[in-house]
Formats: sequence, structure tokens, C-alpha cells
Amino acid sequence: MNLDQLRQEIIDYSKNIGIDKIGFASADVFEGLKERLKRQQELGYQSGFEKGSIEERTEPERLVPEAKSIISVALAYPSRIKDGVKGTKEERRGIFCRASWGTDYHDVLQDKLGKLAAFINEKVPEATTKVMVDTGELSDRAVAERAGIGFSGKNTSIITPEFGSYVYLGELMTNLPFVPDKPLEDGCGSCTKCLDACPTGALVQGGQLNAQRCLAFLTQTKDFMPDEFRPKIGNFIYGFDTCQVVCPYNKHVDFHNHPEFEPDPEVAKPKLKPMLRISNRAFKDTFGHIAGSWRGKKPLQRNALIALAHYKDETAVDEMITVMKNDPRPVIRGTAAWSLGKIGTEDAFAAIKEAVDKETDEQVLAEMDKGLAFQEEFSTT
Ligand code: SF4
Repeated sequence: MNLDQLRQEIIDYSKNIGIDKIGFASADVFEGLKERLKRQQELGYQSGFEKGSIEERTEPERLVPEAKSIISVALAYPSRIKDGVKGTKEERRGIFCRASWGTDYHDVLQDKLGKLAAFINEKVPEATTKVMVDTGELSDRAVAERAGIGFSGKNTSIITPEFGSYVYLGELMTNLPFVPDKPLEDGCGSCTKCLDACPTGALVQGGQLNAQRCLAFLTQTKDFMPDEFRPKIGNFIYGFDTCQVVCPYNKHVDFHNHPEFEPDPEVAKPKLKPMLRISNRAFKDTFGHIAGSWRGKKPLQRNALIALAHYKDETAVDEMITVMKNDPRPVIRGTAAWSLGKIGTEDAFAAIKEAVDKETDEQVLAEMDKGLAFQEEFSTT
């Protein structure tokens, strides 16, 4: 078995199945990442979505004892919507972050990596292969960085020279000892655009992310959104893109290589009002195929209420009152009350006052108090 020849055949095959970039890395321990993750843990910067222990996330041989190489792959996704739709005063729209515009990339990448594994096993039947995409223990970004797919930017994204940071990443572990690629040089230099643009200070100099302050993470939580962050999400109902949008490497980058990732404007930028009372069936039919639906409809509905408050959309008040009075979920009733107060019409305040008498949930009552407190702000301005 000539491994150099197989390596080249894998590269050629990856192009045939629509993989945009491929790189090879050793399966050695990720020492730098291990230190960073420990620091992150000490500082309380973790999101809580991480899978596995720090050791499992940084020591490939814990996952595949005979692992020698990790093959990293990248698929480019679009940064602009063709034939985009625009919200109007009567019909405001939210937006999903770019990484959640098309068909769930986990499915697409799993499929392509599965084909790559089958190709390797066809050539070397005894080879071990294990495919991972995002939800596995290994850090897709650390693997991609080591495999020369891109460098790790201060915004913590992997930035490729070809596609900017608008790439989905996945990897395949194997016991075949391929010659590794070389990591790319750091390309950020003295630039601090993403650090300056982050509205919550979630990016810490040196490429650390405080997930507890990251709006992309906070839009995915299921509880009440902390007050401090509500005015900052704008109309994002899932994820947050600003640290990527401002990056010079993403300027003029817009790849539409994969029909699966082509965004449907009505899904990527949905009307906000209909989201407030969308049925489970309609939610699944409309949003079930995109990555942004993985936490269910509640976080998206909560964020839609906050986005309507951001727009001060008076046309949504009646709908929001219905939600505040009738939704069985305290997070939704409470956020509706807060948002109604933010919009601040007479009807909105009257409805909150009326609802206070019937509400029994302490957290919702606290949100109603906050909503009513905006009345004083309005009367003093
Ligand atoms: Fe690096 Fe500047 Fe891009 Fe941030 S915006 S990732 S500092 S190049």
C-alpha cells in the first residue's frame, strides 16, 4: 500500500464528491487546545454545549486508540441570499445566522465524510475510520487548523484563504499514517475589527471566547435571556454573525457551491409575527431541516419577541398580548410582557396590568414588572 498515492487519490476523490478543501493532520494530542480549554473552564467561559471531557476533546487516541491521522474537510457556504426578501413596517423579519441558512450541514458533511470513509475502506479494507461533525468530542477547528485548512482568527473562526470563515468543518480519524499538511501562518496581525465590533465583549484578546457573553450562544439558550443582552441581538433569532461579517477575509466572499446550502429567503429571514404561535407541525415542516432548529421552537420564539421589541412593532401588539395571556411556557409569556413594555403602546401597558392579576409564575411576574417599568421611562422622555 503506497500511502502517498492513496493520499492523492483521497484528495482527488474529495473533489469529485464536492468537498471544497481537504487537509491532513497527525492524531497527536492537542496540547495548546488542552491548555486553552482548561483556562476557559477556570474562567467560566464554556457554553455548556461541549461534548466530552477536556481529555476526550484533545486526545484523539481516547476516541480511536489506533488513530494516526485526522483528515479535515471544509465545505463553503453562502454569505448572501440571492433574491433576498426585505421586511416592511407591517411585516418585520428575523434572521438566522449564515451557518444555518440551508439544509443542516451536519447531514451534508456526514454524508460526504461517509463516502470518503467508504472510499478509504475500499482501498484499504482493514483501515479504521471514524467520522465526526461538530457534535463529536474533537474540536473541528483545532483539527482544521493543524491540517492547514485555515488559521484560527481572533474571532475564534477558522479562516481559509479561499472561502474566508464561511466554511463548515468535519473530520475523519484513521489509523493510516498519512503525511500531514503544514498549518497556515496567523493572518490576523494587528487587526482587531472583530474584537471592536463584538457588542458584548465576548471575544477576549488572544482568540478566547467567553461563551456566556456570546450572542450566538445566548440565542440558543432556552431560559429567559439575561436583560443585558436583549437589546443587543437586534433581529437575529438564531446565532450571530457580526464577528465574521466585519472580518476583512470575508469581504466579497460568497460561495454557492452546494445546492443544499442555498438559502430559502422565507426560511432564512422569516416573518416574525407568524413565529409567535407557530404549531409544532408547521415549525417542523418549515424549519426542521435547518441547523437552527436543533433546540426546538422555544428559543426562536423568545428571540422573535425580543426582535419585535427591537423594531417597536406596534402591529404585533395584539398578537403578543395573546401570547402573554395564553402561552403555557413562562419564558414566552414573560418575554412577551417585557417586549410589550418595550413597544410601549397604551394597549400594551393596559394588557400587562390586566395580566398581572391572573399570572402566578414568579419569573413571569418579574418580567411584567420590568415591562411596566418602561412606562415610567416613556413618561419621562
Ligand atoms: Fe482576525 Fe481581523 Fe478577522 Fe478578527 S476581523 S478574525 S482580528 S482578521
